[in-house]
Amino acid sequence: MEATTFVLFGATGDLAKRKIYPALYNLFLDHKLSKSFTIIGLGRREWSDEAFQAQVEQSLHTFSRRSADDSASIKAFIKAFRYSVMDVERIEDYHKLLQVVEQREQELHLPGNRMFYLSVGPEFFGKIAASIQESGLGSAKGWKRLIIEKPFGHDLKSAQELNQELGKAFKEEEIFRIDHYLGKPMVQKLDVLEQSNPALQDIWTNQYIANVQITASETVGVEERAGYYDHVGAIRDMFQNHMLQLLMTLGKNDGRISKRQVMESVEPLLKENVVNDVVRGQYTAGSIQGKPAAGYKDEPGIDPCSTNDTFVAVRLRIDDVFWRDIPIYIRTGKRMKEKSTRIVIEFKQPFKRSYSAQERTAPNLLIFEISPNEGVTLQINHKDLPNKGVTSTIPVDLHFNQSGEPEAYENLIYDALQGDPTFFAHWDEVELAWKWVQPILEAFEEDLVPLHHYPAGTYGPDASDLLLAEDGNHWWFDS
Ligand code: NAD
Repeated sequence: MEATTFVLFGATGDLAKRKIYPALYNLFLDHKLSKSFTIIGLGRREWSDEAFQAQVEQSLHTFSRRSADDSASIKAFIKAFRYSVMDVERIEDYHKLLQVVEQREQELHLPGNRMFYLSVGPEFFGKIAASIQESGLGSAKGWKRLIIEKPFGHDLKSAQELNQELGKAFKEEEIFRIDHYLGKPMVQKLDVLEQSNPALQDIWTNQYIANVQITASETVGVEERAGYYDHVGAIRDMFQNHMLQLLMTLGKNDGRISKRQVMESVEPLLKENVVNDVVRGQYTAGSIQGKPAAGYKDEPGIDPCSTNDTFVAVRLRIDDVFWRDIPIYIRTGKRMKEKSTRIVIEFKQPFKRSYSAQERTAPNLLIFEISPNEGVTLQINHKDLPNKGVTSTIPVDLHFNQSGEPEAYENLIYDALQGDPTFFAHWDEVELAWKWVQPILEAFEEDLVPLHHYPAGTYGPDASDLLLAEDGNHWWFDS
């Protein structure tokens, strides 16, 4: 790993505390950070270096996956941290920051590689990028890179405007857009699972696959994000980014095509057809794991007349040589029955007519559990001898040993420091995803799609089941 100055905007914030410091600490323990690594934290609060270091240490005790009890390691780690007060809207503060950065680079004989991580609200992204450029912070002797995290815009137009602003200060290959779903270990393993297993590779086409189902269900409601979520909904908060990135990753066919090409091949939706392929849902009162849960409109901070979507289910098709004619169903929602992210691939049933036990033969399923558990399961049919020899299904389970596995932010920060763009959301993908979603946003705004309600603690509205039933399919594992 090259020696780097890591400049963290929003160092006093929640994301820094919960994810970024623990990730850096675990990279440090794994000797994946350079010995001359330094972190300059920025925030509006008046903190000394010591107060900042104490906060970082505290966050490790609370959030690090590995124990932060070894005081020698902690001491060695936090001594790399410095703090600077900064109002991101004041250009003078960037000039001051430049002095701090240059001083650290001299002290540690650093080559001038600068990583700027913007852990602040997206409304600041453009301004910060421009000020980095204007102040000279961006004229480093080594490389410069930028890490940002979604939301990347609110719709196609605002995303394009943001990208133009960023583009004035950073080249595309210098921008690392985090989509933390791409950092999840199971998602990172998908490529190799397929590439290194010809048996999987060969069945990964429309010759064998009947349909694909991608689900990301949450049990939580809007939590503390009511004001934000009520203007965003499941379509922007989850579908446009995480769900479409999962689709692109799955659709790559072990790298024979790129994520961009997958997204380009998704058949476009016309606004007037959105109603046929998209289900919009919102939760009402119900109960989750035995506990009562309020309806969306009764949540604190939500407009009591809100028509915001807390659930979407979408049917789409990828028009390329591997995926043509395979219906792909994607759903995501809040306050659902279980917390789970998974991909289910249902295979065709060529034996339906020839096999004598046909009535009882279920399709083969290949299931990728992404979170909270990780694993791959192949559901096959077998002869159940104790049960009169009937044909029934049995799961062939592959569960990975997850202990010691790096977390998403560790993988992603490490890759960005290495300059490896593989598991990031690239601008062309982000733009194509917004283009694809735009007719849905407009159809929702113009109320061209009914809002279906579902009680909290279920798998979404009945309309989501009907969407699959139209094709003779059903969601797997809803019970
Ligand atoms: P937060 O409100 O906890 O922290 C925001 C940080 O920005 C604070 O350090 C604050 O001091 C700083 N800040 C705000 N205005 C500033 C100004 N004018 N000058 C200097 N600093 C300023 O927010 P967060 O939860 O840490 O989220 C940060 C970003 O990460 C947001 O874009 C959010 O959407 C995204 N994000 C957060 C999470 C999470 O788990 N918290 C997850 C995914 C994405």
